[in-house]
Amino acid sequence: MDIILLGPPGAGKGTQAKKLVALTGIPQISTGDMLRAAVTAQTELGKKAKAFMDAGKLVPDEVVIGLVEERLKEKDCEKGFMLDGFPRTVPQAESLEQMMNHLERKLDHVLLLDVEDEELVNRITGRRTCGKCGAIYHLVFTPPPAADTCTCGKKGLDQRADDNEKTVRERLSAYHKQTSPLIDFYGKRGLVRKVVGTNSTPEDVFASAKRALGL
Ligand code: ADP
Ligand code: ADP
Ligand code: ZN
Repeated sequence: MDIILLGPPGAGKGTQAKKLVALTGIPQISTGDMLRAAVTAQTELGKKAKAFMDAGKLVPDEVVIGLVEERLKEKDCEKGFMLDGFPRTVPQAESLEQMMNHLERKLDHVLLLDVEDEELVNRITGRRTCGKCGAIYHLVFTPPPAADTCTCGKKGLDQRADDNEKTVRERLSAYHKQTSPLIDFYGKRGLVRKVVGTNSTPEDVFASAKRALGL
């Protein structure tokens, strides 16, 4: 199964992707995670991406398209893939379509997580992640079992540098301008499965997502 998780920053794409990976064994491909790894490793690509990410702006299309193109050729993608945070612009979606034609594959679903802006700001500013196992928490909505400690035992959770209110507003504006046209792009292809995430727990969203994907 080849799927895309689409939705604004903070909608719960990463949270749902982890649950779907556990259920299906299909790999999650998060361009945000790949870019953050490149920034930490201080690669040329990471240096190019950092200023855009810090400002809450999208990294140029050619940078992310190259990353995804390489990743989709890896062996674990043969059984399917779950794109999280890609595509984010129409040119990225067009490139993906070309890549998939070359690979003789067809997208099955675009899972759209729909959440209102004010809830997104609350979600993102309270987000904390585990640097060891990648778990995602929220200080209020889905707190870790013990304060500042992950279920994997790691003490000290991380807050992303771009998860502050000012950058979040920039990212939401980038979403509405550059990414939301994809709802129409994939709608025309009959691929959009919409799940409402506002005022719904991660477990309830997961139940709706499974239904929407026929799982
Ligand atoms: P979120 O989970 O909050 O939506 P991500 O981790 O997906 O954020 O992305 C963090 C940042 O990485 C984005 O604000 C953007 O700068 C960059 N980024 C990630 N994916 C893409 C993409 N497909 N196109 C352009 N920039 C991207
Ligand atoms: P995205 O990958 O779309 O940016 P995340 O999965 O990282 O979103 O979730 C953003 C924040 O919102 C995290 O702190 C996460 O714990 C929290 N969150 C995710 N889903 C829900 C939900 N259904 N209700 C409340 N908080 C949620
Ligand atoms: Zn952990």
